[in-house]
Amino acid sequence: MKPIQMVDLFGQYEKIKSEVDAALLEVLTSTAFINGPEVKAFEKELAAYLGVKHVIACGNGTDALQVAMMALGLKPGDEVITASFTFVATVEVLALLGLVPVFADVLPGTFNLDPADVARKVTPRTKAIVPVHLFGQSADMDAMLAIAREYDLRVVEDACQSIGADHGGANGKRKSGTIGDIGVTSFFPSKNLGCYGDGGALFTNDDELAHRVRRVCNHGSDQRYYHEVVGVNSRLDSMQAAVLRIKLRHLNDYAKARNTAAAAYDTAFQGIDGLSVPERSPFSSHVFHQYTLRVANGRRDALRKHLEAADIPAMVYYPVPCHLQNAYKSDRFPEGSLPVTETLIHEVISLPMSTELDQQQLTHITATVKSFFS
Ligand SMILES: *Cc1c(COP(=O)(O)O)cnc(C)c1O
Repeated sequence: MKPIQMVDLFGQYEKIKSEVDAALLEVLTSTAFINGPEVKAFEKELAAYLGVKHVIACGNGTDALQVAMMALGLKPGDEVITASFTFVATVEVLALLGLVPVFADVLPGTFNLDPADVARKVTPRTKAIVPVHLFGQSADMDAMLAIAREYDLRVVEDACQSIGADHGGANGKRKSGTIGDIGVTSFFPSKNLGCYGDGGALFTNDDELAHRVRRVCNHGSDQRYYHEVVGVNSRLDSMQAAVLRIKLRHLNDYAKARNTAAAAYDTAFQGIDGLSVPERSPFSSHVFHQYTLRVANGRRDALRKHLEAADIPAMVYYPVPCHLQNAYKSDRFPEGSLPVTETLIHEVISLPMSTELDQQQLTHITATVKSFFS
């Protein structure tokens, strides 16, 4: 059996090696390393895939979140509602910009923002909501848009883990990240659409917002050496764009492979007491950035050790919620203030998930999990 990894990037590369190597060599000889034709072509192709008017590539997913907040013109003191059960990037950029993160709890089944709690957290200072589409399926965007309309809020979707997922709500089927005012994603290597370094992008259907996003990414400038607003330097390089153009053509097949692995896990774990498989949301397809189980009765860490003893890596996403991180603790969100989040961090465990898991590996993983519970 091939050794099991959380993500098998080499196995995936081997299958597209000749295409990727040729494309990278071509960039080398073109020397158009920044803002070259590869980046423009990738932006166009990703926009067509997502069915969105504008894609603006940038340096990474965290930058994309920061640029989104800047392009929306949010001001210090403005409150932004988001999840605490997530990667820290959102909260970090809010803090850097002097914006105030306001945490809402998540739903225990899908791990995504609970619309009822988001509505409860709205105050007169609230300016935006950032739903994080965690682990590969969309949060309830119809509910988020309804809250946003009622209180005149902007919506920035964090689609770093959900690229390619379909959200099918009252507004018809749309790709995750293209429903709010701005969507952002990350091309970090282990993401569903990963490059071979850092990368990110923003999506929007709004021409004016697209213009402001491009300007912020480019030092606040429309015309070289003339600066209209405070900006940043955040761009995707041509090498990464060349890789992403190739991988984008495989993205639907990659999602299929992930779903095949998830289905094998689901089937094997049916009816095990004290183990819950990830719930499928009724309004989103799942692209399984992670396959995340919940383990009851305080046995999560013991399961992790049991897996490790059988050479199966497993990860806890996330062990500490943002509101309890030393950097972001506040009196407004003390321990106990987000009960679902604070329960989940002790229960969740993510199994190996990639496009390259084979039958033998899946059988070894499922048998090992089952032996723990028998
Ligand atoms: C990966 C990720 C980010 C940050 O992306 P980087 O490209 O690593 O900066 C932000 N939010 C979520 C939910 C992520 O998974």
